[in-house]
Amino acid sequence: MNEIQKDFPILNQQVNDEQLVYLDNAATAQRPTQVTTALTEFYQTDNANVHRGVHTLAERATADYEAARRKLQKFINAKEPEEVIFTKGTTDGLNLVASTYGQQNVKAGDEIVISITEHHSNLIPWQQLALEKGATLKYIHLTDDGELDLDEAAKLITDKTKIVAVAHASNVMGTINPIKQLAKLAHEHGAIFVGDGAQSVPHIAVDVQDLDVDFYAFSGHKMMGPTGIGILYGKRALLEAMKPYQYGGEMIGFVHQFESTWAELPYKFEAGTQNIAGAVGLGAAADYLTEIGMANVTAHEQEIVNYLLPKLEAMDGVTVYGPQDPAKHTGVVAFNLDGLHPHDVATALDMEGVAVRAGHHCAQPLMEYLGLTATARASFYLYNTKADADRLLTALQETKEFFKHGSIETK
Ligand code: PMP
Repeated sequence: MNEIQKDFPILNQQVNDEQLVYLDNAATAQRPTQVTTALTEFYQTDNANVHRGVHTLAERATADYEAARRKLQKFINAKEPEEVIFTKGTTDGLNLVASTYGQQNVKAGDEIVISITEHHSNLIPWQQLALEKGATLKYIHLTDDGELDLDEAAKLITDKTKIVAVAHASNVMGTINPIKQLAKLAHEHGAIFVGDGAQSVPHIAVDVQDLDVDFYAFSGHKMMGPTGIGILYGKRALLEAMKPYQYGGEMIGFVHQFESTWAELPYKFEAGTQNIAGAVGLGAAADYLTEIGMANVTAHEQEIVNYLLPKLEAMDGVTVYGPQDPAKHTGVVAFNLDGLHPHDVATALDMEGVAVRAGHHCAQPLMEYLGLTATARASFYLYNTKADADRLLTALQETKEFFKHGSIETK
């Protein structure tokens, strides 16, 4: 175990009599002890409901919760903590924007532009909004190099466009998308830009002010934080003009019998008791990544992808999807083996202790566009090594042999 791996006790185990190699980080990452300790310590020393109490534990819990918000604000360089809203995750954040800003601002005849590579979370909310409002949903497709077609985007985004919503990084192919350019295009036509940061915030430095995105959603669990917590960043002016997402406690100014007023930002969007411990854990994850340095995280993943991609592509009967240029790649690599269903590949790899995902990866329109039903996907993070990439390559070779000869050494 190297120094970073020591922070992740879960990695130190055998699966099917082999040392575990965890390559399913795009689905969810593992948590370092720094995060699990922060969760335990919160529950053991400070736990109380936030904002409402005057007793000491309530004050401590509130201070922890708001400190976590400021850590996340810094992590994505938002201008102020009021622009950082705690959500359940990316899906929740994107639905929030569609059900508030979208409901209020999209009407019949308007257009919404997304990309063909979107995760269902950044697709269905816009698809359903367009259907409900009589608006048109338009898709940016891919160039032959597997990158978003910016020429097509420039034609699709017009004065009719109200919302452009695109992932910063693809969860299937690992492509890092030029969302700063897309946000600029959207703004030139009076539209807003919504970024899906689920696969970017954990892996590359994100500066929402520099990107000039209007909204940006991401999940805690993919960046080593707890599940059930995430962030929606939104520009203050937009958030202030939006109606609340949910109604209930915490989000009110004053409630009368027949009308109510709403709390200030960010509480207007945090109805009910929040995932307080989750926020604290997410703050600890942001601290952990900050300490290592996001530039180092990116460089480490790119080094592994640089090492893996040519070897994977040189393997007989292997097709790799996504951009050729490792500089445009996160640690996510999608591939298929000729004649084998990716589920069989993933099952065979698991027998070798290598955990990868197989399926449509919640991106069925992309699969259809690529003429596929599914792929296998290996996704690397900062605790993975080139040795893990080698284990994947060896296990793939063994998988190919097994299916060729129809037998495998049983363990
Ligand atoms: N967008 C992308 C690009 C994703 O990879 C994911 C998670 N696979 C999501 C959205 C949804 O994230 P969550 O399930 O945490 O809400």
